[in-house]
Amino acid sequence: MESGQLVDAYGRRHTKLRVSVTDRCNLRCRYCMPAEGVPLAPREELLTFEEFQRVVRVAVGLGVRQVRLTGGEPLVRRDLPELVRLLAAIDGLTDLALTTNGVLLAEQADALFAAGLRRVNVSLDALDPAVFAELTRRDSHRRVIEGIAAARRAGLAPIKINVVSLRGVTESEVVPFGHFARETGLEVRFIEYMPLDAASAWERSKVLSAADVRAALEAALLPLRPVAAPTGSPASEYEFVDGVGRIGFIPTVTAPFCDTCDRFRLTADGKLRSCLFSLEEVDVRGPLRAGVSDEQLAEVLSAAIAAKGPGHRVNHPDFVQPSRTMSAIGG
Ligand code: SAM
Ligand code: SF4
Repeated sequence: MESGQLVDAYGRRHTKLRVSVTDRCNLRCRYCMPAEGVPLAPREELLTFEEFQRVVRVAVGLGVRQVRLTGGEPLVRRDLPELVRLLAAIDGLTDLALTTNGVLLAEQADALFAAGLRRVNVSLDALDPAVFAELTRRDSHRRVIEGIAAARRAGLAPIKINVVSLRGVTESEVVPFGHFARETGLEVRFIEYMPLDAASAWERSKVLSAADVRAALEAALLPLRPVAAPTGSPASEYEFVDGVGRIGFIPTVTAPFCDTCDRFRLTADGKLRSCLFSLEEVDVRGPLRAGVSDEQLAEVLSAAIAAKGPGHRVNHPDFVQPSRTMSAIGG
């Protein structure tokens, strides 16, 4: 194993870290949270901004180059631009991004950009406000659309739109999103529904596969052709053959990409997860608060990656759904 790098037993080097800054959220997406919400970590168990900064700085020393802030809903964490400022100042971190549901983006886009954020993914599963309300159990569609517009005005680029596709629920959204991608120039990325929902109601039959979404887009619009995706991106990226409109697919269930996985996660309460579907976590909050050195922290990170398994087991009969939901892991 190359020293000083986060390389696992299968030779995968980890250069991307997703940091969940809160487990709280202002939506209740059916595929993620139950209507009443999930039990939340007590506030004192959430890492402070300085603790996040320290873990990221040590991770960057071990080769991490890209950090994405997520949640829960990251924009409900108070003063998030301040965390962005602290992370943007870390030497060697080349890419700092955010995944948000966009509800609070209109208010915060300028401050986030000023703090050093450069790009954002906005989750929007439906262009039809009624379908959006049904899926998220909240009436916030207009605010998300305004948030996307504000992010554009603030200079955040690229803006990508994350769409979770559910069979029986969002088929009618696929073609409108194809038009949306062509009209706005924003990349639309279709994500397969994964077994990380709070209700454990995931069923394979509810996964609207990347192949089916692609077929629907091609039947209604134009053929898609692959474009080179940045190395390590989980999305297979396409454009329509006339060069107008970019579409990405994240086929976690039907075509896992574990062999090239280069990411790991830090939860808001300070646990490292080497895989979305991990059943085990490594605590960093305890060591941080016990006063470990940077070298010792680096060892904790390296050991967590070294113990990473070869891939998720969603397609195996022995699959066990993690007890944490996507909102508590940081998707
Ligand atoms: N709240 C923010 C948001 O929704 O963008 C950030 C956190 S959310 C957990 C991150 C991403 O995970 C979102 O794009 C969301 O749609 C996706 N997600 C949540 N639950 C999922 C599931 N069961 N399967 C697939 N994607 C899921
Ligand atoms: Fe909240 Fe994002 Fe989960 Fe929806 S997907 S409930 S916005 S954390």
